[in-house]
Amino acid sequence: MTRRLNWFLLGLILLLGLPYYWLLLDNRPGDAQLKPVTIAQLRQLAASIPGEAPYAVEVELSSFRRMPGNLFVAGSGLKRKLIGVMAWRLPIKGGKPVVIDSGLPKAAATDMGMEQFDAAAQARIEAALRDAGLILITHEHIDHEGGLIALNNPTALAAARLNPAQISGNRWSEMLPWPQGPRPRPAITGTAPVAVAPGVVVIPAHSHTPGSQMIFVRLASGQEFLFAGDISTFTQNWTETRARSRLVGDFLAPEERREVFAWLRSIQALKAQNPGLVVLPGHDYEWVIDPQNRTGVRQGFTSPSV
Ligand SMILES: [Zn+2]
Repeated sequence: MTRRLNWFLLGLILLLGLPYYWLLLDNRPGDAQLKPVTIAQLRQLAASIPGEAPYAVEVELSSFRRMPGNLFVAGSGLKRKLIGVMAWRLPIKGGKPVVIDSGLPKAAATDMGMEQFDAAAQARIEAALRDAGLILITHEHIDHEGGLIALNNPTALAAARLNPAQISGNRWSEMLPWPQGPRPRPAITGTAPVAVAPGVVVIPAHSHTPGSQMIFVRLASGQEFLFAGDISTFTQNWTETRARSRLVGDFLAPEERREVFAWLRSIQALKAQNPGLVVLPGHDYEWVIDPQNRTGVRQGFTSPSV
C-alpha cells in the first residue's frame, strides 16, 4: 500500500510540477549569442546628427495592474509585481521633445483589466504626443503604441517614426485601433542601429515582437539611457537573465524567446561597457522611481511650453 501511495505521490508531483516548472520557472537561455552592438558604436551614432540632444528623461504612469512575478520574470516567485504602463518624454532646449511610447487609452486599459487608469496622466501623455518633434515606440503592443494610434492626430502621426512591423503585418500591429484610411509609411527600415535625432539611436531588436526595438539616448549632459521596452519588462529580466515565463512568452503573448535571451545578454554587455548606463525596463515603474536606484528619471511630464 505504501509503495502504491509513493508511486501515486510521485505521479502527482510530476503531473503538477513539470508543467509548473516548464510554464513558469524555466529560464534556460540556450546558446543565445551576444548581438554585435557596442557602447562605442551607439555613442558614435548618437553624435552623428548635429544639434541639441535631450536634457532629461521624464516618465508618466498611465495605468497599472499587479500580477504574479513568475509570469513576466520566470522563476522570480509568485509575489505580485506592479506592471506600470508608462510613457517617456525627453525635453530638448530650444526644440520639440522626443516622446517614447504612448500609454494606453481608457477603453483599452479597461479591456486589459488594469486596476487603475489615470486619466490626467494619459491626457498629459497625449498633450506631449501632439507637441513632440519625434515619437518612437519600443514595440507594437497596444500598451505601448495604442495611445498614439487611438489619438489619431495627424501632427503626432507625422512625428512618429515607426518600423514596418509597428504598422502592419502581424497580429499585434493589426490589433491597434487604426483609423480608416492609409497608414503611415515606415521610417525605420534597417536591421542595424540607426541615429534618428541628436543623442537618440534606435536599435532594431526583433524578439519580444517583430517590431521590437530598443532606444539608446545620450543626454546633453553625457548621461546615457537604454529604453529596453518589453525585452526587459522588469529590471530583474536583464540583471538575472530571466525571460518572461513560457506561459506568457510561448502561449499568451508569443515572443521569440531565444532572441529575447540574446538581447538580455547584450544589455548586460552594454552595461558592463558603461556602468553608468541606466537601463529603463518596459513596465517596472516602481524600480524607475525608487530613489535608491538613482535613475535620474523625473516623475511627471513638464508642460509642453517648458
Ligand atoms: Zn508592454
